[in-house]
Amino acid sequence: RGSVHFDNVEFAYDPKRPILKGVSFDVPAGKTVAIVGPSGAGKSTLSRLLFRFYDIQSGSISIDGQDIRDVTQESLRSAIGMVPQDTVLFNDTIAYNIRYGRISATEAEMRNAAELAQIGPFIESLPEGYNAMVGERGLKLSGGEKQRVAIARTILKAPPILILDEATSALDSATEHEIQSALDVVSRNRTTLVIAHRLSTIIGADEIIVLKDGVIAERGTHLMLLTKN
Ligand code: ADP
Ligand code: ADP
Repeated sequence: RGSVHFDNVEFAYDPKRPILKGVSFDVPAGKTVAIVGPSGAGKSTLSRLLFRFYDIQSGSISIDGQDIRDVTQESLRSAIGMVPQDTVLFNDTIAYNIRYGRISATEAEMRNAAELAQIGPFIESLPEGYNAMVGERGLKLSGGEKQRVAIARTILKAPPILILDEATSALDSATEHEIQSALDVVSRNRTTLVIAHRLSTIIGADEIIVLKDGVIAERGTHLMLLTKN
């Protein structure tokens, strides 16, 4: 469940400047595909198109064989989970932030998600625990702690499709390494589109696609690309 198919997708924000000039690739259900390429190549645009934030000019995008134009944006949002580069938390409790969109989740489910995201012990060490306020007027969490809250939220949501958009690039390398293992947990057996600018962070991807000037310049496994370049 959750296979993604981009078929000859063409897209431009401004008709005079095409961003994607016919991009085709598949993310088979449960597999991980990484999109790499220079800044401005259109990597984040691909993920916005999957959410149908914009309409493509030509080609098609489908999930499990169904064209996303025939799917409501609401059901796309529930099918796709996203861990962004910089997580902005709501000015509310940690519990609210983890449960967001899943308010019916039980206490045990929430704690289990926090455990898998490797932030459970940290939250329990806080005087107010899961009821601690975060955000502007609450606790100031580090970048890594915020990412772990976002990962816990995604684990609880359990979407069939996951987008990791430079999810570790705002972190120092020690924190990046720790967060990577939490991301491995959430992406395991889940259709995953990883957007990254460093090859070193996508060792486990099943396929790597190099996007350049609006087209796929290269594609292959991690090893193939390392030996070629
Ligand atoms: P990447 O993620 O590879 O860095 P993006 O997908 O963010 O690239 O952006 C691709 C190109 O589209 C860039 O040249 C960027 O300036 C442009 N772009 C991104 N978002 C918008 C927008 N909302 N309106 C107009 N141009 C945009
Ligand atoms: P498969 O389903 O093919 O076994 P997984 O989904 O288990 O693959 O894991 C894919 C790999 O993608 C992980 O091992 C991890 O190294 C990599 N990965 C996951 N998330 C990120 C990320 N945000 N940045 C870089 N690499 C990631």
